[in-house]
Amino acid sequence: MSQSTSISRAALVARDAADPLAHFRDCFHIPDNLIYLDGNSLGPLPKRTVERMHQTVNEEWGRMLIKGWTACDWINAPARIGAKIARLIGAQPDEVICTDSTSINLFKTLAAALTLNPGRRVILSTRDNFPTDLYIAQGLIQHLGGGYELRMVDGERIAEYLDDQIAVLMLTHVNYKTGRMFDLPALTQQAHACGALTLWDLAHSAGAIPVDLNGAGVDFAVGCGYKYLNGGPGAPAYLFVARRWQPLFSQPLSGWMGHAEPFAFTSIYEPAPGIGRYLCGTPPILSMAALESGVDLLLEADMQQVRAKSLALTDLFIHLVNMRCAGYGLELVTPRDHAIRGSQVSFRHPQGYALMQALIAANVIGDFRAPDIVRFGFAPLYLRFVDVWDAVDRLLHILESRAWDREEFRRLKPVT
Ligand SMILES: *Cc1c(COP(=O)(O)O)cnc(C)c1O
Repeated sequence: MSQSTSISRAALVARDAADPLAHFRDCFHIPDNLIYLDGNSLGPLPKRTVERMHQTVNEEWGRMLIKGWTACDWINAPARIGAKIARLIGAQPDEVICTDSTSINLFKTLAAALTLNPGRRVILSTRDNFPTDLYIAQGLIQHLGGGYELRMVDGERIAEYLDDQIAVLMLTHVNYKTGRMFDLPALTQQAHACGALTLWDLAHSAGAIPVDLNGAGVDFAVGCGYKYLNGGPGAPAYLFVARRWQPLFSQPLSGWMGHAEPFAFTSIYEPAPGIGRYLCGTPPILSMAALESGVDLLLEADMQQVRAKSLALTDLFIHLVNMRCAGYGLELVTPRDHAIRGSQVSFRHPQGYALMQALIAANVIGDFRAPDIVRFGFAPLYLRFVDVWDAVDRLLHILESRAWDREEFRRLKPVT
């Protein structure tokens, strides 16, 4: 790394002044003195979303009532917002739909992938994948009568496990704990070379890292609305199905919104011709309005600039923690190599939970992932370089003073 060890806070103030993304910070509500390093778990509130919610509640729901479904185009919200998200992930507008939760979308797309690769019985994933991805695979396998296997292996050696038994390679692009990023194009190509389909979870990459699903030939993908897309707590998720697969399978949650003609009210299910068949029930319009507002804001940013700043922020954080907090038991688990680093930095620490609680009490919000990982997410639209400096300052103070060593910081909360 070429950074000098003598970075000063003043130099970082100057760096912020030259940052081409600096003006986006003012588009968000960030409480005073708070350093928010958890946008990979729940993005902050965009100011324009307050306006949008006000409009949607008062003008649309309040005045239009049921006419809103057509007059305000509520009915097309899943496809319209899907088409916008498509621009963030290298997909065609008709390949993405905004709906349900990531977990439910995993169920639908995994069911599709298994059916579209008949004769093969294995879902290949990593042991350290996000639990819901693994749980959904287990539930689907049980539902299908148990003839399938979820093979969970070491992520570092994933390519070695691709063979002619694998029906689908199901991976999360950026690992939620370590921040390690897979080579999505290379693994997609390797999976295809052995006859497997691919299902990528973009929860920790879309919105922070440029993704090109069609450039890589990906088959299926899912992702989250409330993380880097800043859609609000529990925001709807999205899914991607490559055009070539859309007409060949209709997913098992065959609700009326995925019907070719929902308002014909016929008794027999007939799937919508395109991506619309991945819908199930009525879309949550208030939540969709908030998500659309977040996505619109993100679309104003240049994703290459976002990625460049994300790497610069995480480089700086790693560098400053190593320089200033050495000797306090923090062990970097995130790769230093840019090619395999997402937009977060994680450290192992034996007192990780209490340490994070003390940091939160000092207004630096990251999070903790069992058993011993403290995790810091870096969202380039609203974080400044000077925030990185100040976060490390507060971290150092807590380590030096052992401020974490208090009963109240060890008490486990229901959400970590
Ligand atoms: C956050 C996250 C999810 C969340 O799924 P929900 O259905 O929204 O609870 C799924 N997968 C990964 C990899 C995640 O990081």
